[in-house]
Amino acid sequence: MKNKLLFSTVVIVVVALLASCAAHRESKVGHKSDFFAMNTYVSVFTDKNDASLHKSIRELTVTLEKMLSSKYDSALLKDFSDSSDVYSEYMDLFLLAHDIACKTEGAFDYTLGNLTSLWDITGQARVPTTEQINYALSLCGYKNAQIIEDTLVIENKDIQIDLGAIAKGYTGDRIIELMKSSGINSGYVSLGGNISVTGDSENNIKNGKSGWSVAVNNPFDTSEIIGTVDVCNSTVSVSGSYERYFEKDGKIYHHIFDTKTGYPAQSDIISVAVICENGALADALSTALFVMGYENAVKFYNDGIYDFEAVFTLSSGKVYATDGILDKFIPSYQAKKDGLPLDFPQY
Ligand code: AMP
Ligand code: MG
Repeated sequence: MKNKLLFSTVVIVVVALLASCAAHRESKVGHKSDFFAMNTYVSVFTDKNDASLHKSIRELTVTLEKMLSSKYDSALLKDFSDSSDVYSEYMDLFLLAHDIACKTEGAFDYTLGNLTSLWDITGQARVPTTEQINYALSLCGYKNAQIIEDTLVIENKDIQIDLGAIAKGYTGDRIIELMKSSGINSGYVSLGGNISVTGDSENNIKNGKSGWSVAVNNPFDTSEIIGTVDVCNSTVSVSGSYERYFEKDGKIYHHIFDTKTGYPAQSDIISVAVICENGALADALSTALFVMGYENAVKFYNDGIYDFEAVFTLSSGKVYATDGILDKFIPSYQAKKDGLPLDFPQY
């Protein structure tokens, strides 16, 4: 059994922001720090050299990791129904998670902790038996939750919450908030596949553009990119089947699950990047769109339920960008050479 954990999504950021970072380093303006948290590499850049802010950002990330990591699910649930003070700080996040679960009809489902623990893709990964999967599924499902007086309540204590698909995006939002309140005009945070930016990069300003250019990895060859997308005060969140998976008997089992089957989602999407002002939403939607598959994801986009844009790479190799981002998505030289279709088809 081969267990693989790729930090390819970090490459997205490194590649994307390399030019800008180099410029900052040369002019001795700005501060970059890197650390490991939330099971991934975290990179933070601010235009001002403020070591104590970077320390606070690191501490905030570690606190959020503790509070939102699936390891703490049972405690979370207990305190949930008590609506204790400790968790009330995160109630907006839980309510958003529930809203997204309802609107995506469970493609994103934060209550699948028993299923992800059973498969344990990045730990003791195994292919469970059908009985085990069915049992885990009986203890999953956002429909078990209800909102009572602005509090999310799940009465069945055996249900486990897994915020793995939304926590990094949420953390990005909180870090950008902290940067802004500390007087930072321009910066970014990269948390394994989630890049949140504020202000404008030096590079973009030099090129007469605003915001930051974020590169989207080529999921077939993570040393390459399929293109860059120019974003302002937003998060780019990538979900893909190539990120975390294990292989058994020649079959790949990845980390994004379909709660209708209990197995890794069978999707024609290999990677999807969602661009959205709300980082938590970007993160959750990238997971949800992956589970939906391309055709349903396009319908969901066209329904206009949430305000977001997306770049899809399908397992066929085709790349599509949604209407609202088409003029801000610059395909890489290779992508252009390969003649990738970038039009966004309507269903
Ligand atoms: P992401 O990399 O953002 O797509 O999130 C994947 C992580 O979210 C997994 O490692 C699981 O912990 C969790 N997860 C997997 N499938 C789902 C799903 N369908 N809905 C919500 N969370 C999920
Ligand atoms: Mg996600």
